[in-house]
Amino acid sequence: MSTSDNSGRRQNLVEKKVRELCYDLTFERYGADISPPIVDRLEYELDVIAENNYCAVYLIAYWLTNECRQKCVPFITKGNSGSSMLAFVLGITHVNPMPMHYYCPGCGYTDFNIGKYHSGSARYGTDLRKAVCPECGEEMTGDRVRYTV
Ligand SMILES: [Zn+2]
Repeated sequence: MSTSDNSGRRQNLVEKKVRELCYDLTFERYGADISPPIVDRLEYELDVIAENNYCAVYLIAYWLTNECRQKCVPFITKGNSGSSMLAFVLGITHVNPMPMHYYCPGCGYTDFNIGKYHSGSARYGTDLRKAVCPECGEEMTGDRVRYTV
């Protein structure tokens, strides 16, 4: 069974479910005003997994990791999910693959222009200097863990 998206491309119900879940959780994390680089990355990954019929794999991984989280069962994901924004917003991995940026846990404000808040060097988002969110005044955190040197 399938439906069509706005572009007329046919979507199966699993793909539709993954897209809805992805955007529901992305809105939950980043608020209604999602930064364009994040939307671009999600759309790219959603298209790739749909074209390669991996939507069910991501949906099953989401259900399994969500169940583990609810039952306090430790889990770790292996493989290339560490470089997937889709896996990050679905909670399959804790690694945010986007370039280093500031993120406000209070309102979801995101800023990739780290030079506005941080001078000097930083290797990981977590070692960025603390900064105040220009939208809500809460303390922002640096996001991104880089695997490569
Ligand atoms: Zn904020």
